[in-house]
Amino acid sequence: MSFQELGLRAELLRAIADQGYTQPTPIQSQAIPLVLEGHDLLAGAQTGTGKTAGFTLPTLQRLMAAPAPQGKTRPVRALVLTPTRELAAQVGENVATYGKFLPLKSTIIFGGVSINPQISALRRGVDILIATPGRLLDHIGQRTLDLSKVEILVLDEADRMLDMGFIRDIRKILALLPKQRQNLLFSATFSGEIKSLAAAFLRDPVQVEVARHNSTNTQVEQSVYPVDRQRKRALLSYLIGSGNWQQVLVFTRTKHGANRLAEQLEQDGITAAAIHGNKSQGARTRALSDFKTGQVRVLVATDIAARGLDIDQLPHVVNYELPNVAEDYVHRIGRTGRAGNQGAAISLVCVDELKLLAGIERLIKRAIPKEVVAGFEVDPTIKPEPIMKQGRQGRSDRGDNQGQAKGRNGHSGQRVAHGNRPAGKGKGSGDHHRSGHGNRPAANRGGQRGRQRPAARQGA
Ligand code: AMP
Repeated sequence: MSFQELGLRAELLRAIADQGYTQPTPIQSQAIPLVLEGHDLLAGAQTGTGKTAGFTLPTLQRLMAAPAPQGKTRPVRALVLTPTRELAAQVGENVATYGKFLPLKSTIIFGGVSINPQISALRRGVDILIATPGRLLDHIGQRTLDLSKVEILVLDEADRMLDMGFIRDIRKILALLPKQRQNLLFSATFSGEIKSLAAAFLRDPVQVEVARHNSTNTQVEQSVYPVDRQRKRALLSYLIGSGNWQQVLVFTRTKHGANRLAEQLEQDGITAAAIHGNKSQGARTRALSDFKTGQVRVLVATDIAARGLDIDQLPHVVNYELPNVAEDYVHRIGRTGRAGNQGAAISLVCVDELKLLAGIERLIKRAIPKEVVAGFEVDPTIKPEPIMKQGRQGRSDRGDNQGQAKGRNGHSGQRVAHGNRPAGKGKGSGDHHRSGHGNRPAANRGGQRGRQRPAARQGA
């Protein structure tokens, strides 16, 4: 199957050829014809599958095919909601890339940056808007955005949006859209919550699903390196140095852990930067671009911060600590071996994490090969410690989860500072997210993730 056979118009085919893509990925060949036919879609595909082009290309084509509504300014006709700023930026880049030969305008809006340039862009007229839910609602509250002409809605990484507690925001946004529209929901997983969200707003959806990285992507070579808790950093430096790894994405469970590890790697002579929800947008963008250009060899990230990072040919992903939620493992290793490239996913696992490892192996339905590195053999006398009892780590884990949910959805301090919360938000998601400032346990938050955490805390 070629892109031509999918029935895409010449301007899109040219843009695709400029990208060097020769063949559609499986999600693209399934989704594109369905979207072009006007179906609602429930698509199971995660980052790395080419899903972004899977919804962007046919969306652009449909907007071109239908006459634009007349009016003073061009109204938003397609809305893409994403859970994180990075993903919004990524999708926005894709829309600009694929749409470069078309007379359509797009813009990206997310929190953590000034709202004014976004207001100006909206005022100039935008056909395709890519947004995180929090900042989108800020614009609605300020009456700088009208969603009454939206023809196509895309919920990208819907599972992660629910995990991050965006369900109320999403409902509010849905209520502002015209009833008659096309809906595309992309999600890496189909939990009960996703299914009920889908049932609530999709219209006779066609379900498409492509293999997840965990089950079939043989491009990612996974391995576990058993190691003692205290020796992880030394092992990581050793692996990076001895393997001469030049570009490594490393995951930690906490923001504090990410900072500390980046500093320690620097002390070991390995250039490193940390990326997480407590960093300003500028710092995050800089860290990512330094990593992409090779100025920084290691990027240490927390789970939520890593969503939406698109780094071509990322050769190495390291789980410095296993995630509390098994699905996050799949997301993490999905950062390597993308679009047909080879990749290695390595997990440094200490005795505290054996239950988490078992949970991951259950999820991916196979055992991950173990490799003992000479000189780093585990000491069998070391007893497991509950992960949350490692005080500092536990506390920052909780903060991490909440801080990131707050930071990444556009509910930044700015909104509060501007005092521009839409009426009726008091009991809504704003409060919900603002609880991130307080000390409510993550488990009290809505969403799957919150509910899973207590078990992980005690059990693992
Ligand atoms: P996504 O899953 O949308 O984040 O895309 C993952 C990566 O695959 C991105 O780097 C895309 O640029 C790339 N990509 C998307 N479609 C294709 C294609 N048909 N052929 C090769 N690479 C692609």
